[in-house]
Amino acid sequence: MTLNVSDALHHPGQDYAFQGEQTIAPVDIGGDTVSFDTALLKGRFFTADDGSVTVDGRLTTVAHAHCANCLEPAMAEIDTPFHETFQRNGDPSDDEIFAYEGYRVEFDKLAMSYAVLALPIRFLCKEDCPGLGETHPVDVDFSLCQKELPGQHPFAALQQLLTKDEEV
Ligand SMILES: [Zn+2]
Repeated sequence: MTLNVSDALHHPGQDYAFQGEQTIAPVDIGGDTVSFDTALLKGRFFTADDGSVTVDGRLTTVAHAHCANCLEPAMAEIDTPFHETFQRNGDPSDDEIFAYEGYRVEFDKLAMSYAVLALPIRFLCKEDCPGLGETHPVDVDFSLCQKELPGQHPFAALQQLLTKDEEV
């Protein structure tokens, strides 16, 4: 997504709305590849007398990776606010600042930075994924035991019913 700020540069301090889409390249994180749906960026921007452009808004996308427990595909919805100031003609190779040249502000670096920062610490295919750990079978046995208990109630109720019939 490219923001044309030529008009805004002539009107420092004035608010402009913007909305657009930005593709985000896949990134390797902790041995897994995280890919992103096309991100939607929405917000406002204004310029200052020194030519800097301040942007303020929200980024939404969906990140795709693999479940930390069972390695099945997992996704995470991302909805994060962003706020940055782009320096005019700043050094584009300087990781510490956002920069732009001429009158075009590019959002690729901003979108990547904010999307990665908003990633969950662990992807899970579902909230209670039991995973493939060695304690897993023990957990399952325990839950099965618990589920057997309520199953006895209908039988007990039937027994009571039969007892009643005998009494009548
Ligand atoms: Zn899982």
